[in-house]
Amino acid sequence: MKLRQVYTYGNYLKEKFGTKVYKVPISISGFTCPNIDGSVAVGGCTFCENDSFSPSLDKVKPLKGFHLNLDSTENPFLEKQLQQLAVQFESMSARLRRDYGAEKFLVYFQSFTNTYAPLSTLQALYDRALAFDDVVGLSIGTRSDSVTDETLAYLAALSEDKEIWIEFGIQSIYDETLERINRGHSAKNVETWIKKSKSYGLNVCGHLIFGLPNESQSMMLDSSEAAYAWGIDSVKYHPLYVVTRTALANEYARGEFCPISEADYIEVLVASLKMKPDHVSVQRMTAGISDDSLIAPSWCRDKNMQLKHINDRLKTEGLKY
Ligand code: SF4
Repeated sequence: MKLRQVYTYGNYLKEKFGTKVYKVPISISGFTCPNIDGSVAVGGCTFCENDSFSPSLDKVKPLKGFHLNLDSTENPFLEKQLQQLAVQFESMSARLRRDYGAEKFLVYFQSFTNTYAPLSTLQALYDRALAFDDVVGLSIGTRSDSVTDETLAYLAALSEDKEIWIEFGIQSIYDETLERINRGHSAKNVETWIKKSKSYGLNVCGHLIFGLPNESQSMMLDSSEAAYAWGIDSVKYHPLYVVTRTALANEYARGEFCPISEADYIEVLVASLKMKPDHVSVQRMTAGISDDSLIAPSWCRDKNMQLKHINDRLKTEGLKY
């Protein structure tokens, strides 16, 4: 039987640009998250290893301890941040050119909440990123409670001749789950800002987590169905796993959280894929972590094995990834 390829983000970009486009991940120090800095909550999402988000970069003087937010009126470290952006992009793109013959790039503002800063800072960073050689666009990871109409309007203007994506963590459409994971915003908030982003003509990627506390498979599929209905253009699926130095690790130690099994994850993933509109591309099928910080489940340690098992199961549906 000939297997049908699941429509991937790579397929989408190749169709659009005629060659493979490489995402270049960027972390700019000085950015944080309103769920960590106390604006919305403290401590962050229960699964988030907050430490991993800024210390190594924030040790870079003079940015140590400096954090932006939406009310910031000035940013004395903008030049330093622009330098960081250039250094990270140049080194990563050079490696991708050398090792893979890469010709085109999408700059991916990945870590932190990348719209949680004054618009002037965002404009400077986005404009600089788009000016690098062979950059076709941006992908900006953020939270739905940290975008403004002004920012979306600016991105919409950029999207007239560049590929602009905004990535939102949806995770679940159940508010009781969002409260349980200390997400700090409601499902309605995500729905509103995804729909607004679409009304500005932007491309939207939604992140979904399967295996959140107390969620049944039908709840997980309700989240998928809603995300597709809100108009997302691309999706990243993740299993919830427990890492050290998180609130979830404490819940797990107390026996209050039981991670999803690999078999259950694959079942809900396949069901979600089968509900997915064909034009919605898949950017991520699963996630894991191979270092000592992973506490559970152990199947999240080996990404290659996860993908093999997913493909084995997809094959029974006539699909491949
Ligand atoms: S929104 Fe992202 S960065 Fe902020 S606490 Fe949650 S997972 Fe961490």
